[in-house]
Amino acid sequence: MAEAYILLVEDELHIAQGLKFNLEMEGFRVVHLTTGEQALDRAPWTGCCLVILDRMLPGVDGLEVCRAMRRTNPRLPILMLTAMGKPKDRVEGLAEGADDYLSKPFSLEEFLLRVRGMLRRADWYRPQEKAGKDYCFAGNRVDLQQQRAVAKGREVLLTEIETRMLQVFFQHENQVLSRTKLLELVWGVTPNTETRTLDNFIVRLRKYFEKQPSAPEHFLTVRGRGYRFVRNPRD
Ligand code: CA
Repeated sequence: MAEAYILLVEDELHIAQGLKFNLEMEGFRVVHLTTGEQALDRAPWTGCCLVILDRMLPGVDGLEVCRAMRRTNPRLPILMLTAMGKPKDRVEGLAEGADDYLSKPFSLEEFLLRVRGMLRRADWYRPQEKAGKDYCFAGNRVDLQQQRAVAKGREVLLTEIETRMLQVFFQHENQVLSRTKLLELVWGVTPNTETRTLDNFIVRLRKYFEKQPSAPEHFLTVRGRGYRFVRNPRD
């Protein structure tokens, strides 16, 4: 099998060249494309381990590429680069399925931290004592190893970050986890990750697993402190 590569989709050449150079210095193989059309042509992105996707591309823009990638390959980790100033614009990518985003301009150090964080699954994943067993709650069944779930009667393919987040919650049933702790455990050490990223993932998990996402019983907000996962609310 060919060596896994990072797909970089960025039309601004000076940015792309800098990122590519530094990723290659870190030992990654990088395929650089300048348009959304070229990125879509490579579907289903076999052999790609991470996508770094600029939000603003001429023609087919980053959001559209992100949506298409999610449809075809629900697990591909996607880091979106955005130049947008407003928080609403910045988190748009998350709503389309991106796993994380960085607002331009960003430091190279922060960029590499995010990339490493998203690729650290090998470090993160440790077989559990319940390895091979599905985790069940409220009629939902989650297979962390296969990154899939049956939730509310339908199959859900989980992204890397969604799986990590579930794993962290399942390992800390009933415990309050602060935002800082969750960001550290799920995303790796990314001190500048905005908390909106985290909130967006909580919204996704509620949508998958809660009977009423607006009145959650399992993925609970603990005001001023963080989040808490409750397996059996009636206990
Ligand atoms: Ca651009």
